[in-house]
Amino acid sequence: MTATLPHRAPAAPVSSPQDVRGRLARRFAAQHRRRSFARDLLYVAAWTSIALPIGFWLHDGGWADMTASVSGLMTGLGILCGLIATSAMVIMLWLSARVPFIDLTIGHDKALEIHKSLGQWTFGGLVLHGLYLVTGYALADQVSWLNEFASLWGVGDFVLAVVAIVLLAAVAVSSIAAAKRKLGHEVWQGIHLTTYAAILAAVPHQFSMSGLFSEGPARWYWLALWAATFFVMLAWRVLLPIFASLEHGVRVSRVTWVTPDTVAIEMTGRRIAALGARPGQFMHFRFLQSGLWWHQHPFSLSASPSGDVIRITVRMLGKGTRQLATTLKPGTPVLFEGPYGVFTDAARTAPDVVLVGVGIGVAPTRALLETTEFAPGHGTVILRASSDVEVAHLAEFEAWCRARGARLVTLTGHRGVRTDGTTSWLPAPHAELTLADLAPLADADVYICGPEGATGLVLADAKAAGLPADRIHHEAFDW
Ligand SMILES: Cc1cc2nc3c(=O)[nH]c(=O)nc-3n(C[C@H](O)[C@H](O)[C@H](O)COP(=O)(O)OP(=O)(O)OC[C@H]3O[C@@H](n4cnc5c(N)ncnc54)[C@H](O)[C@@H]3O)c2cc1C
Repeated sequence: MTATLPHRAPAAPVSSPQDVRGRLARRFAAQHRRRSFARDLLYVAAWTSIALPIGFWLHDGGWADMTASVSGLMTGLGILCGLIATSAMVIMLWLSARVPFIDLTIGHDKALEIHKSLGQWTFGGLVLHGLYLVTGYALADQVSWLNEFASLWGVGDFVLAVVAIVLLAAVAVSSIAAAKRKLGHEVWQGIHLTTYAAILAAVPHQFSMSGLFSEGPARWYWLALWAATFFVMLAWRVLLPIFASLEHGVRVSRVTWVTPDTVAIEMTGRRIAALGARPGQFMHFRFLQSGLWWHQHPFSLSASPSGDVIRITVRMLGKGTRQLATTLKPGTPVLFEGPYGVFTDAARTAPDVVLVGVGIGVAPTRALLETTEFAPGHGTVILRASSDVEVAHLAEFEAWCRARGARLVTLTGHRGVRTDGTTSWLPAPHAELTLADLAPLADADVYICGPEGATGLVLADAKAAGLPADRIHHEAFDW
């Protein structure tokens, strides 16, 4: 195993640990207040975007129409479902657009979690929208449901709306966890892209078939909202990543084995500082080498960017990462997206810090250790792996912990079982211990990173120790 030296020498402490803790407590409390305020703003904006279209509909006499007859009730319910589902769809798009303000405020993973949970409601809402409306129209026209459906076939952009529902159904089915696992990430991502086709198919009928959008403020509201959403998606998902990759010209400069199944990949580019990458963040990388270019992976920075060099550390967990580790050559050009995520100082709320890296989760932990502030004696690093040789960058962790006055706890071995029969995230001899036994948590932010199963157990430990949610920061390495 090769151990590289830390990238730069840490500054010597100039104040007493208590002074430093006091300063950090004030700074991170203020940062937390600002972030909470920004988060509240986002929630208000999201709820407003749902309430506003309903307000336009009510203002247009929606309630009176809905309460006038059974067909009116059905039609009204259909309109309500459509308005709510379409608003939710717009929120989903903004959440997946990787807009820096949203990403830094709630975190990229949280944004995707909300995006995912809204998916089912959106799809369900759109199906109900169609069912209720056709029922309402059928009752009003006094014809059967199927006859009404057939008569709508030639009206406006009805066919496109049906196509949109069918495409969204395919996306919904492919996103069920079991199906997603079976399909593999790349195939699932390909199917997921049809969402955009579904949205493009659905939007025209909003304007061509609904009286609500034919004139007045509702029409302008939706036109402006769709235009802004299209712009945001195009800018942050397509144009900015392309421009950034061209501008920085990143290439692989060195590939080094750091454990028997893990490589450190160093990449060099132009004006890397301008990327603004913070230790703990991750980026999506696509290596333009034969056999590798077609798959893109998220990897965390495993060191603070130094000069024009960035480093990631990759463990062979599947076919793609195995191919990457064993075949990647220096000189390979790299396309990237990001940096993303708030597994960084931006999430700090308290003066002390506990960093827990499980398996390859040590990568961002290593980068954070380099720069996150804490007073000497008030930082703890816990590394958890199946065996000693699996701990990537151990020599660097030791050097940084010594230099910064952090306590290093390395725990290796297979997970133990507690006397109450539950599985511990700790190795057998320490199975009865908890996170609170390993590190002082009272004034600490806890950062936990690694594969979902193991980190879930650490998270449970942190919650059981009474830590408020805002002080637990979690980066799961699977989506
Ligand atoms: C935010 C984040 C940061 C990560 N940082 C690191 C890191 O620093 N070092 C490291 O070794 N690993 C990291 N990972 C995990 C790494 O991305 C996966 O191990 C890798 O993509 C697996 O690809 P594969 O083809 O080898 O395996 P597969 O067998 O294809 O997949 C294994 C698992 O990874 C998931 N996965 C595969 N491709 C992607 C993708 N493009 N996006 C999201 N998930 C995917 C799959 O859904 C599956 O759960 C990180 C993951 C995330 C989400």
